[in-house]
Amino acid sequence: MSLLAKKQSITEFAANRIMARINELAAISESSHCLTRRFASVEHRRANDLVATWMRAAGMSVREDAIGNIVGRYEALDSDSAPAIMMGSHLDTVINAGRYDGMLGLLSALACVESLYESEHRLPYAVEVIGFADEEGVRYQSTYLGSRAVTGHFDTAVLERVDENGVSFSDALQNFGSDVRDIPKAQRKPEDIHAYLELHIEQGPVLENKDQAVGVVSSIAGATRLIVKLTGLAGHAGTVPMNMRRDALVAAAHCVTLIESYCSGQQGLVGTVGWMEAKPGAGNVIAGDVEFSVDIRAASNDLRGERVQTVVNEITTLCQQRNIVVEIDFVHEAESVDCDQGIMQCMQEAMSLHGISALTLPSGAGHDAAAMAALTKIGMLFVRCKGGISHHPDEFTSRDDAVAGANVLMQTLINICKVPA
Ligand SMILES: [Zn+2]
Repeated sequence: MSLLAKKQSITEFAANRIMARINELAAISESSHCLTRRFASVEHRRANDLVATWMRAAGMSVREDAIGNIVGRYEALDSDSAPAIMMGSHLDTVINAGRYDGMLGLLSALACVESLYESEHRLPYAVEVIGFADEEGVRYQSTYLGSRAVTGHFDTAVLERVDENGVSFSDALQNFGSDVRDIPKAQRKPEDIHAYLELHIEQGPVLENKDQAVGVVSSIAGATRLIVKLTGLAGHAGTVPMNMRRDALVAAAHCVTLIESYCSGQQGLVGTVGWMEAKPGAGNVIAGDVEFSVDIRAASNDLRGERVQTVVNEITTLCQQRNIVVEIDFVHEAESVDCDQGIMQCMQEAMSLHGISALTLPSGAGHDAAAMAALTKIGMLFVRCKGGISHHPDEFTSRDDAVAGANVLMQTLINICKVPA
């Protein structure tokens, strides 16, 4: 066994396999027309089994935990009980998904281990590759089922839920080959995991805009989601004079523009109204009831909290002025998570060794890494995706960019281990 050179890349062989495997996994779908692979489905089983064969071929011992995460372990240089650097991403998809979201992170991590195995190298840390069972939450409207089970923060509320076909969570898991009572066993000890690294497609346009293949993530944005219900008075579109109306839809329209203005002009702060329903919903009737969603995210918890409060106050004032009754429900709250400074440094050095200029950016989307931060220090790499398109069949990352990302991940792994040249 030779010492590792200071500069490391994945092997050409491993690089070739990333793209081939992206396509192999994308073919495992509940639908023949598009890619859909939900938690604990037959397709999830097939995906896990396929990934397990790849892991074994890369010299890893493989196990599946009670929530359905598939985990491969490549032992350290001189101990079978060394703490692990864990790398991975999720294997579930949204409905009609792209093929890179989640999968690229898992396959890049696997390529790193394959390269170590093929060149007969081991590191001072074990390397674990994990394919999380559920990140998208499509089947049971959950958040981070897989990674939260690993951190011991599994949300037991999900145990009461049924899917759209009436299948309970515990039945789904049983059909998959597991038992809900064993979920606590999926929890890992902090002392056994040295760090968690996740490579993910950016799912946004920043890297493409900067003509950059890879970027280092600085933080994962916190998010607040609200449902706003406005109650005015429905009426005839022809007979109620404009100055006598209590039009809930006009009030909602003003709310949308005020959310845009209060969530603009600060880096990392975004606000979105992505869903709205007006009732009774006829072209010749004034809308008496409107419901809409508000999603506000920021890298800073303080900034997010302050803007959410401002938006809530302004909506309340606006509705009072228009004689509209307003009810605001907080339906989701997630704190922002900072990536580890030391890992970010290792990633930046990895990028410069591979001739990629340093670029850090916040993540506006949530990722398994955000959940894993409850267990260990985290680092994330983003890889450019075409047009920033994601959660859509047009999602695309080029082979060159995928290889650049995997090389930076490999180098980061080496830098964290500080293997002497
Ligand atoms: Zn994802």
